[in-house]
Amino acid sequence: MEVTINTIFTVQGVRHLTDSTYIVRLDRKGMMFVPGQNLNIGLAGDPEKRDYSIYSSLEDNFLDILVKEVDDGLVSKKLKKLKPGDSIEVDGPFGFFTIKDEDISTKKFLFIASGTGIGPFHSIALSYPELNYKLIHGVRNRNETYEKDHYPAGCYIGCLSKDKKGEFRGRVTDYLRQNPVDPDTLCYLCGNVNMIYDAFDILKEQGVPSGNLHAEVYF
Ligand SMILES: Cc1cc2nc3c(=O)[nH]c(=O)nc-3n(C[C@H](O)[C@H](O)[C@H](O)COP(=O)(O)OP(=O)(O)OC[C@H]3O[C@@H](n4cnc5c(N)ncnc54)[C@H](O)[C@@H]3O)c2cc1C
Repeated sequence: MEVTINTIFTVQGVRHLTDSTYIVRLDRKGMMFVPGQNLNIGLAGDPEKRDYSIYSSLEDNFLDILVKEVDDGLVSKKLKKLKPGDSIEVDGPFGFFTIKDEDISTKKFLFIASGTGIGPFHSIALSYPELNYKLIHGVRNRNETYEKDHYPAGCYIGCLSKDKKGEFRGRVTDYLRQNPVDPDTLCYLCGNVNMIYDAFDILKEQGVPSGNLHAEVYF
């Protein structure tokens, strides 16, 4: 697959999902990618760049990324202020947080995300609608269950640590302890490193072999 380096892409717009989380939409410019991959992005001419998972699906003629503004963050704050027509610099796509073609129609998947770690799973789920999966999403409040209506009924489980009105009250790790995983399941984890370590330990205790565990650490 071709990787672009220092290529200028045009911003179509920024859509705000919460006060601090937003989707940046770019022209796709025919870019080929595998769902689960990420792009390295910065403002045009700015040496600071960061990785962002592709949020949009293979079918879309645009590229979306889902971004959380980090307090005192150098790049995420700048991306939030982008306007339609602005230029940004993109390298990519990169990464191996992807699923194998032969597994798409034969395996059962468990996706575990914290916060914007849901990004690659949104791209995977929408690109492969036939996929047999459950998506467990750890956030604090209901307003962070980003676009949960995009997933078929029963596939999305919001684990809300500070809000009673979700599919589950508690952390993703609490959900996993109460809902043991079939060891044959292919488990993909994305987001905060502490969540990933804790969830790995639980999944291993439940008999999931390390070969079935895949992780993408954001920070
Ligand atoms: C492969 C990969 C894919 C990624 N995909 C996404 C994505 O799709 N969406 C997304 O929002 N981020 C994603 N990230 C994180 C992203 O690359 C940046 O680290 C993040 O946007 C902060 O960059 P910044 O320049 O604003 O902050 P910086 O100035 O780089 O960092 C400021 C501080 O914030 C911490 N930090 C970084 N991310 C977070 C966070 N989410 N919450 C709290 N603290 C944080 C850093 O550890 C650092 O201490 C990804 C990271 C990797 C490695």
